Amino acid sequence: SSTSSSTPIVARASTCMGVISFAVDDVSPQTIWLHAFTFSLGFVFAAVVFSSSLHNWIFSWNHDMENGETRKRRKERNSTASDPGGEGLIRSNSWRDKENFETANPVRLNRTGSLPDVNILSLNAQFHKQLSPEEDAAAMIERLMQTPQLSSENKTLLGYVLRVLQSRGEMSVPTVLRHDSITPSLTQDEAILEWLRENFTNQGPSKRVPRLKSVSKGICFAIKMKRAAKKHVTSEESKFSTPEEACANTVMTVTEDERMQICEALKHVSDWDFDVWKFRELTHGQELQTLGWHILHLHDIQEVFHTTDDVIVKWLNFVASQYMDNPYHSATHAADVLQAVNYFLTVGGASKYLAKIEVLSMLLAAIVHDMGHDGLNNNFHKNSRSERALSFNDESIQEQYHISTLFMKTFANPGMNIFENLSDLQLAEVRRMMIKMVLDTDMSKHFTHMASFRTLLEQKGRDMEAWQDSTEIIMSTVLHFCDISNPMRCEYLSKIWAERVMEEFFRQGDKEMELGIPVSPNCNRHNTSTHTTQIGFINFIVLDSCEIMKDFLPVVGEICLPELRSNLRYWQSFAEPAKGKEE
Ligand SMILES: [Zn+2]
Repeated sequence: SSTSSSTPIVARASTCMGVISFAVDDVSPQTIWLHAFTFSLGFVFAAVVFSSSLHNWIFSWNHDMENGETRKRRKERNSTASDPGGEGLIRSNSWRDKENFETANPVRLNRTGSLPDVNILSLNAQFHKQLSPEEDAAAMIERLMQTPQLSSENKTLLGYVLRVLQSRGEMSVPTVLRHDSITPSLTQDEAILEWLRENFTNQGPSKRVPRLKSVSKGICFAIKMKRAAKKHVTSEESKFSTPEEACANTVMTVTEDERMQICEALKHVSDWDFDVWKFRELTHGQELQTLGWHILHLHDIQEVFHTTDDVIVKWLNFVASQYMDNPYHSATHAADVLQAVNYFLTVGGASKYLAKIEVLSMLLAAIVHDMGHDGLNNNFHKNSRSERALSFNDESIQEQYHISTLFMKTFANPGMNIFENLSDLQLAEVRRMMIKMVLDTDMSKHFTHMASFRTLLEQKGRDMEAWQDSTEIIMSTVLHFCDISNPMRCEYLSKIWAERVMEEFFRQGDKEMELGIPVSPNCNRHNTSTHTTQIGFINFIVLDSCEIMKDFLPVVGEICLPELRSNLRYWQSFAEPAKGKEE
């Protein structure tokens, strides 16, 4: 009875394993036991074979892993040993990056030659000494984009990745202008590079060796600084003591003949070769007020600001009176920038992206953007710990001073407050926009600013709707672009500006010498040339800006770029014979 009761259990168990399948009722219990025994033997054999294979496989996998690790370590150790300076580590990282890059990228980089022109390894070896990881990646992508096998769609996608990589702040600063870059063979004048570095990047100056060698010299310096600061405060206080006085001259006294000439000149206000220096002569030095009046009315200031002509004239006279008689940063420079802004708004077509109140805010920002400039740059103020530097904590010192003075003085004098009839909301907006624009004229923001604009431009193109939420950057970029537009003007005008800006630098250099502090780059009148400064300024700052802006404002490509290239050739014509002589 025990046999018969156990039979179905074994049969069921065998069936469950799915190995033996037959009808239990048709066979005898002995046959079932025989089958069960045979099956068990087979099962044990299979288990032994399986576990053996599993062990071998695990062993070989583990062995491979160890080998791989050893190979990597050996490579790193070798690299480090041959390059004690640690360059080997960079190279081995690049080697790993290359493998990751190959794995992640759908386009396989075949070492045996399907894409022979893409050799990332040699590219890294060539560049690893001076490129950051982002630049390294950008270089790889650039190289990859040149492969003919790549579809245009993939090229566009890679192009976008490249732009994003390149627009990461400092990344956009040309390599030669970066402190951390190794630039073994510089053809540019080191002083020009230092000047560009100090003024157009936020990297700050290179550490210059202090020249205060003795205690007595230190004491002399302290006394001079104290005197200079005292003189400075007195002159500014006297300027602001009677704003009404500045507004007294509300009517320009001109002869009928002069009036006709001014009207004739204003007919050309929308020409790129508008001669602001001749206009200054015609208006007896009231070029900013006259041009401001005319252009603000062209854009309906009375309608939008609900203000009177009398208030506008008083305000313009006040602002113009705040400009000092510097060689460069004068009311004429403000008038020039204002004319350029109006040109890009109207002829250039930028105004179609903006609301009326934004257009007017831009024009007002252009008028005030350098008011109270004392002809000394931000680094001078910072290094000399001037009152301005201390007031604004070394941050965009001049720009903060210009815009804060403007609102402080305007609000304090109701008779010249052009903002008084704006609603609170409108005033808050206008004030916010003007502050942003004037602060963005700080040249140290140049590269970051232009890179951000370029990225947006690539996404939005010239689609007006797409720009609706980004009008602020349009306003800031166009104003900054106008502020560096001198070399894009006709040769006659750009030469005047170049000579004047150099004279202002030299006066700063004279002052630094007088104070016994290190002379800033490009500010020593005894060893700085206008043409090398202009060549550096055009090549590193203005040319790239034009290349970006021409995709947004076609007139830049049609009118400004040809002038710029012609001026570059003009300045280079001075450099070439000198270079020939040296050789
Ligand atoms: Zn300016």
